[in-house]
Amino acid sequence: MKTLQDFNFKDKKALIRVDFNVPLDADFNVTDATRIQAAKPTIDAILADGGSVILMSHLGRPKGKEDKYSLQHIVQKTAEILGKEVKFAADCRGKIAEEAAQNLKSGEILLLENLRFYAEEEGGDKGFAQELASLGDIYVNDAFGTAHRAHASTAIIAEYFPESKCFGKLLATEIESLNKVLKASKKPVTAVLGGSKVSSKITVIENILDKIDHLIIGGGMTFTFIKAQGGKIGNSICEDDKQEMALDILRIAKEKGVQVHLPVDVVAANAFSNDADTKIVAINEIPDGWQGLDAGPKSLEEIKPVILSSKTILWNGPLGVFEMDTFSKGTIELGKYISEATQNGAFSLVGGGDSVAAVKQFNLEDEMSYVSTGGGAMLEMLEGKILPGIDAILK
Ligand code: AMP
Repeated sequence: MKTLQDFNFKDKKALIRVDFNVPLDADFNVTDATRIQAAKPTIDAILADGGSVILMSHLGRPKGKEDKYSLQHIVQKTAEILGKEVKFAADCRGKIAEEAAQNLKSGEILLLENLRFYAEEEGGDKGFAQELASLGDIYVNDAFGTAHRAHASTAIIAEYFPESKCFGKLLATEIESLNKVLKASKKPVTAVLGGSKVSSKITVIENILDKIDHLIIGGGMTFTFIKAQGGKIGNSICEDDKQEMALDILRIAKEKGVQVHLPVDVVAANAFSNDADTKIVAINEIPDGWQGLDAGPKSLEEIKPVILSSKTILWNGPLGVFEMDTFSKGTIELGKYISEATQNGAFSLVGGGDSVAAVKQFNLEDEMSYVSTGGGAMLEMLEGKILPGIDAILK
């Protein structure tokens, strides 16, 4: 696995695929710069080595050139975070990009305009990839968020750098962290899977059953399992057509010696609202008109020792509708248990959009060993897929 350390960047132009797909407000201010900050270590290291940096990214899903998706909007924020001037090329290809790249001196930073202004980016077009490749000497992929896409700048471009391509620090850390779970040597290994739908996690569950000792199931996906087992789930969310699959998962887990922990009680509400009436009921006795929206106290009591005795923990998906205060307790408590286990030496990896949002919302980010930056990419790695962006560097 080639990383920055394998190259001398002195007087070289590093062409870095970053994920600067950041949220902007109505006035085009960056509202969350986490992704820019995440790329800083790679950029700093290359500049410190005497190189220059050409940054390429996408922003949003533009249809052709649309000013609201221009990366010009993030130049100032990027300069602030990097503590250096950031030059901007108003096109990512053609004369504008070529001249800007040619004029770039060691120690300087150039940001190219949105790659997705050209359909060739997502189309994985070879000609486009080659044009981009001509701008730099060494290709660095540091965009985990798009590593599961075979786009021109994330995968195809690597063909034009047979000897001079590597992972940036962020992507290397993402891969190492996921491998700590997938090739876990520190047992027992526990996976906590929550969130709304079992259908979106099924391949993950199938793939990780071989690697884990405990599977804790929570959140909305619980009810498909409970209903399949004959329980009464009231008005809780459920994927009726996935009941067979849920039973299959439980059977396979048993065969593989994985202990599955389903909730035993639940915070039920008479409406999907923060102000709803609530009561604690057994998970399989939810009355009609009521829906389970958070983990109950007994369920939390039961998972606590499991988490605390784990040495490797994967967490994907909240245990309840954490966006509403009334139903956030289960997710917060789980976060605290994982935090305590981490302090005691466990390795904890949190990933997937909503669990990352929850961890941030409850200020638990620094308590986890690693919080992944790529939702879809992380899930695909957990599914056992080979990601094109990673494969292209390894080839
Ligand atoms: P996912 O994207 O599948 O990880 O699901 C995350 C979403 O699941 C969050 O927005 C939660 O509010 C939601 N969620 C968690 N538990 C429940 C539940 N018991 N009923 C309905 N939605 C839930």
